[in-house]
Amino acid sequence: MDIHIIPCLKDNYAYIIENKKTKNACVVDPSESEPVTNFLKKKNLNLKYILNTHHHADHIGGNLELKKKFNSQILGFEKDKNRIPGIDILLNDKQIWNFEGSDVLVEHVPGHTSGHIFYYFKNEEAVFTGDTLFSFGSGRLFEGSYLEMINSLKKIRSLPPETKIFCGHEYTINNLKFCMEIDKDNSQLTEKFNLISGNIKNKLSSMPSILSDEMRLNIFLKFDNLEFKKSIGFEDLNEVDFFKKIRDLKNNF
Ligand code: ZN
Ligand code: FE
Repeated sequence: MDIHIIPCLKDNYAYIIENKKTKNACVVDPSESEPVTNFLKKKNLNLKYILNTHHHADHIGGNLELKKKFNSQILGFEKDKNRIPGIDILLNDKQIWNFEGSDVLVEHVPGHTSGHIFYYFKNEEAVFTGDTLFSFGSGRLFEGSYLEMINSLKKIRSLPPETKIFCGHEYTINNLKFCMEIDKDNSQLTEKFNLISGNIKNKLSSMPSILSDEMRLNIFLKFDNLEFKKSIGFEDLNEVDFFKKIRDLKNNF
Protein backbone atom coordinates (compact mmCIF):
# COMPACT_ATOMS: atom_id res chain seq x y z
CA MET A 1 0.00 0.00 0.00
CA ASP A 2 1.10 3.55 -0.66
CA ILE A 3 1.17 6.30 1.95
CA HIS A 4 0.53 9.82 0.69
CA ILE A 5 1.33 12.97 2.66
CA ILE A 6 -1.39 15.63 2.46
CA PRO A 7 -0.48 19.06 3.89
CA CYS A 8 -3.47 20.68 5.61
CA LEU A 9 -4.10 24.01 7.36
CA LYS A 10 -0.88 25.80 8.34
CA ASP A 11 1.37 22.95 9.42
CA ASN A 12 -0.82 19.84 9.80
CA TYR A 13 -0.53 16.60 7.90
CA ALA A 14 -3.26 14.18 6.93
CA TYR A 15 -2.12 10.85 5.48
CA ILE A 16 -3.89 8.80 2.85
CA ILE A 17 -3.15 5.08 2.76
CA GLU A 18 -4.02 3.62 -0.61
CA ASN A 19 -4.50 0.03 -1.68
CA LYS A 20 -3.31 0.32 -5.25
CA LYS A 21 -5.12 -2.82 -6.38
CA THR A 22 -8.58 -2.08 -5.03
CA LYS A 23 -8.35 1.74 -5.11
CA ASN A 24 -9.73 1.75 -1.57
CA ALA A 25 -8.18 4.21 0.88
CA CYS A 26 -8.25 5.44 4.43
CA VAL A 27 -7.13 8.78 5.80
CA VAL A 28 -5.47 9.61 9.12
CA ASP A 29 -6.40 12.89 10.87
CA PRO A 30 -8.04 14.97 8.13
CA SER A 31 -7.92 18.47 9.62
CA GLU A 32 -9.88 19.75 6.66
CA SER A 33 -11.70 17.99 3.86
CA GLU A 34 -10.66 19.94 0.76
CA PRO A 35 -7.04 18.85 0.25
CA VAL A 36 -8.03 15.26 1.08
CA THR A 37 -10.95 15.31 -1.36
CA ASN A 38 -8.81 16.83 -4.11
CA PHE A 39 -6.24 14.08 -3.76
CA LEU A 40 -8.83 11.29 -3.67
CA LYS A 41 -10.61 12.65 -6.76
CA LYS A 42 -7.38 13.08 -8.68
CA LYS A 43 -6.39 9.47 -7.97
CA ASN A 44 -9.94 8.19 -8.24
CA LEU A 45 -9.84 6.59 -4.78
CA ASN A 46 -12.69 5.40 -2.62
CA LEU A 47 -12.35 6.65 0.98
CA LYS A 48 -13.54 3.74 3.12
CA TYR A 49 -12.31 4.89 6.53
CA ILE A 50 -11.31 7.99 8.49
CA LEU A 51 -8.86 7.29 11.33
CA ASN A 52 -8.48 9.80 14.15
CA THR A 53 -5.56 9.81 16.60
CA HIS A 54 -7.30 12.25 18.96
CA HIS A 55 -10.19 14.67 19.18
CA HIS A 56 -8.47 18.04 18.62
CA ALA A 57 -10.06 20.23 15.93
CA ASP A 58 -6.93 20.21 13.76
CA HIS A 59 -7.20 16.41 13.49
CA ILE A 60 -10.94 15.83 13.07
CA GLY A 61 -12.00 18.99 11.19
CA GLY A 62 -12.68 17.17 7.92
CA ASN A 63 -14.49 14.18 9.42
CA LEU A 64 -18.10 14.99 8.70
CA GLU A 65 -17.70 16.45 5.24
CA LEU A 66 -15.57 13.52 4.08
CA LYS A 67 -17.95 11.01 5.65
CA LYS A 68 -20.86 12.61 3.80
CA LYS A 69 -19.03 12.79 0.48
CA PHE A 70 -17.54 9.30 0.46
CA ASN A 71 -19.87 7.44 2.82
CA SER A 72 -16.81 6.55 4.94
CA GLN A 73 -16.72 5.11 8.44
CA ILE A 74 -14.95 7.01 11.22
CA LEU A 75 -12.68 5.32 13.76
CA GLY A 76 -11.42 6.56 17.10
CA PHE A 77 -10.67 5.56 20.68
CA GLU A 78 -13.71 4.19 22.53
CA LYS A 79 -13.36 6.66 25.41
CA ASP A 80 -13.38 9.58 22.95
CA LYS A 81 -16.70 8.56 21.43
CA ASN A 82 -18.39 11.72 22.68
CA ARG A 83 -15.82 14.09 21.24
CA ILE A 84 -14.92 12.59 17.86
CA PRO A 85 -17.52 13.85 15.39
CA GLY A 86 -19.29 11.14 13.39
CA ILE A 87 -17.50 8.22 15.04
CA ASP A 88 -18.73 4.78 13.87
CA ILE A 89 -16.10 2.25 15.00
CA LEU A 90 -14.85 2.34 18.60
CA LEU A 91 -11.30 1.08 19.10
CA ASN A 92 -9.74 -0.34 22.28
CA ASP A 93 -6.17 -0.29 23.50
CA LYS A 94 -4.06 -3.01 21.81
CA GLN A 95 -6.79 -3.86 19.32
CA ILE A 96 -5.77 -5.15 15.90
CA TRP A 97 -7.93 -3.53 13.26
CA ASN A 98 -7.73 -4.66 9.65
CA PHE A 99 -7.56 -2.51 6.54
CA GLU A 100 -7.64 -4.28 3.19
CA GLY A 101 -6.00 -7.40 4.62
CA SER A 102 -3.32 -5.40 6.44
CA ASP A 103 -3.09 -5.56 10.25
CA VAL A 104 -3.18 -2.26 12.11
CA LEU A 105 -2.24 -2.24 15.80
CA VAL A 106 -3.99 0.43 17.85
CA GLU A 107 -2.43 1.50 21.14
CA HIS A 108 -3.60 3.97 23.76
CA VAL A 109 -0.96 6.68 24.26
CA PRO A 110 -2.34 9.26 26.72
CA GLY A 111 -0.52 12.48 27.58
CA HIS A 112 -1.28 15.06 24.87
CA THR A 113 -4.93 14.13 25.40
CA SER A 114 -6.42 11.43 27.62
CA GLY A 115 -7.78 9.49 24.63
CA HIS A 116 -4.86 9.69 22.21
CA ILE A 117 -4.05 6.54 20.20
CA PHE A 118 -1.54 5.55 17.54
CA TYR A 119 -2.07 3.37 14.46
CA TYR A 120 0.75 0.99 13.51
CA PHE A 121 0.45 -0.54 10.04
CA LYS A 122 2.47 -3.74 10.39
CA ASN A 123 3.13 -4.61 6.74
CA GLU A 124 3.94 -1.03 5.89
CA GLU A 125 6.15 -0.65 9.01
CA ALA A 126 4.55 2.74 9.54
CA VAL A 127 3.11 4.37 12.63
CA PHE A 128 0.81 7.39 12.75
CA THR A 129 1.64 9.13 16.01
CA GLY A 130 -0.59 12.23 15.88
CA ASP A 131 0.59 14.75 18.48
CA THR A 132 2.29 12.23 20.82
CA LEU A 133 5.68 11.78 19.13
CA PHE A 134 6.78 14.46 16.68
CA SER A 135 9.82 14.22 14.48
CA PHE A 136 12.58 15.16 17.01
CA GLY A 137 9.96 16.44 19.44
CA SER A 138 6.89 15.48 21.42
CA GLY A 139 3.43 16.95 21.95
CA ARG A 140 2.42 19.27 24.76
CA LEU A 141 0.64 17.81 27.76
CA PHE A 142 -2.95 19.02 27.76
CA GLU A 143 -4.69 16.18 29.58
CA GLY A 144 -2.01 13.92 30.95
CA SER A 145 0.88 13.63 33.38
CA TYR A 146 4.57 13.50 32.54
CA LEU A 147 4.61 9.86 33.59
CA GLU A 148 1.73 9.01 31.25
CA MET A 149 3.53 10.68 28.37
CA ILE A 150 6.77 8.85 29.16
CA ASN A 151 4.91 5.53 29.18
CA SER A 152 3.22 6.41 25.91
CA LEU A 153 6.55 7.27 24.29
CA LYS A 154 7.95 3.96 25.57
CA LYS A 155 5.17 2.16 23.69
CA ILE A 156 6.19 3.89 20.47
CA ARG A 157 9.85 3.22 21.18
CA SER A 158 9.19 -0.51 21.45
CA LEU A 159 8.07 -0.74 17.80
CA PRO A 160 10.70 -2.08 15.37
CA PRO A 161 13.58 0.43 14.94
CA GLU A 162 13.04 0.69 11.18
CA THR A 163 9.46 1.91 11.73
CA LYS A 164 8.54 5.00 9.72
CA ILE A 165 7.01 7.76 11.84
CA PHE A 166 4.25 9.91 10.36
CA CYS A 167 3.22 12.59 12.83
CA GLY A 168 0.56 15.27 12.98
CA HIS A 169 2.56 18.43 12.33
CA GLU A 170 5.52 19.79 10.40
CA TYR A 171 7.43 21.04 13.45
CA THR A 172 10.68 19.26 12.59
CA ILE A 173 12.98 22.25 11.98
CA ASN A 174 12.03 23.99 15.20
CA ASN A 175 12.29 20.70 17.10
CA LEU A 176 15.78 20.08 15.73
CA LYS A 177 16.83 23.61 16.71
CA PHE A 178 15.74 22.87 20.25
CA CYS A 179 17.57 19.51 20.32
CA MET A 180 20.72 21.28 19.08
CA GLU A 181 20.38 23.90 21.81
CA ILE A 182 20.37 21.22 24.53
CA ASP A 183 22.54 18.54 22.92
CA LYS A 184 25.30 20.89 21.86
CA ASP A 185 27.98 19.84 19.38
CA ASN A 186 26.16 16.67 18.34
CA SER A 187 27.28 16.41 14.73
CA GLN A 188 24.54 13.90 13.89
CA LEU A 189 21.93 16.50 14.82
CA THR A 190 23.63 19.12 12.66
CA GLU A 191 23.67 16.68 9.75
CA LYS A 192 19.96 15.97 10.17
CA PHE A 193 19.24 19.65 10.43
CA ASN A 194 21.10 20.45 7.21
CA LEU A 195 19.42 17.63 5.32
CA ILE A 196 15.91 18.46 6.48
CA SER A 197 16.28 22.26 6.07
CA GLY A 198 17.23 21.59 2.44
CA ASN A 199 14.12 19.49 1.97
CA ILE A 200 11.86 22.06 3.60
CA LYS A 201 13.31 24.83 1.42
CA ASN A 202 12.40 22.69 -1.57
CA LYS A 203 8.85 22.43 -0.21
CA LEU A 204 9.27 18.77 0.71
CA SER A 205 7.89 17.23 3.90
CA SER A 206 10.21 16.00 6.64
CA MET A 207 8.01 12.89 6.96
CA PRO A 208 8.51 10.09 7.54
CA SER A 209 11.14 10.04 10.24
CA ILE A 210 12.70 6.70 11.18
CA LEU A 211 12.29 5.42 14.74
CA SER A 212 15.98 4.51 15.14
CA ASP A 213 16.92 8.13 14.26
CA GLU A 214 14.42 9.39 16.81
CA MET A 215 15.87 7.11 19.50
CA ARG A 216 19.36 8.37 18.73
CA LEU A 217 18.59 12.09 18.48
CA ASN A 218 15.20 13.05 19.94
CA ILE A 219 15.80 14.47 23.43
CA PHE A 220 12.23 13.65 24.48
CA LEU A 221 13.08 9.95 24.15
CA LYS A 222 16.21 10.14 26.31
CA PHE A 223 14.58 10.32 29.78
CA ASP A 224 16.22 6.99 30.70
CA ASN A 225 19.54 7.47 28.89
CA LEU A 226 21.94 7.96 31.79
CA GLU A 227 24.96 8.67 29.64
CA PHE A 228 23.11 11.41 27.78
CA LYS A 229 21.68 12.93 30.96
CA LYS A 230 25.18 13.04 32.40
CA SER A 231 26.57 14.71 29.28
CA ILE A 232 24.18 17.66 29.71
CA GLY A 233 24.44 17.83 33.50
CA PHE A 234 20.99 16.37 34.23
CA GLU A 235 22.20 13.11 35.78
CA ASP A 236 20.43 13.85 39.08
CA LEU A 237 17.00 14.04 37.45
CA ASN A 238 14.82 10.93 37.41
CA GLU A 239 12.76 10.09 34.30
CA VAL A 240 9.80 12.25 35.23
CA ASP A 241 11.84 15.23 36.43
CA PHE A 242 14.04 15.07 33.34
CA PHE A 243 11.02 14.97 31.06
CA LYS A 244 9.40 17.87 32.92
CA LYS A 245 12.60 19.89 32.66
CA ILE A 246 12.90 19.29 28.91
CA ARG A 247 9.20 19.99 28.38
CA ASP A 248 9.43 23.30 30.29
CA LEU A 249 12.54 24.33 28.37
CA LYS A 250 10.82 23.54 25.06
CA ASN A 251 7.64 25.39 26.04
CA ASN A 252 9.76 28.50 26.57
CA PHE A 253 12.03 27.97 23.56
ZN1 ZN B 1 -3.53 17.87 19.23
FE1 FE C 1 -2.42 18.91 16.45
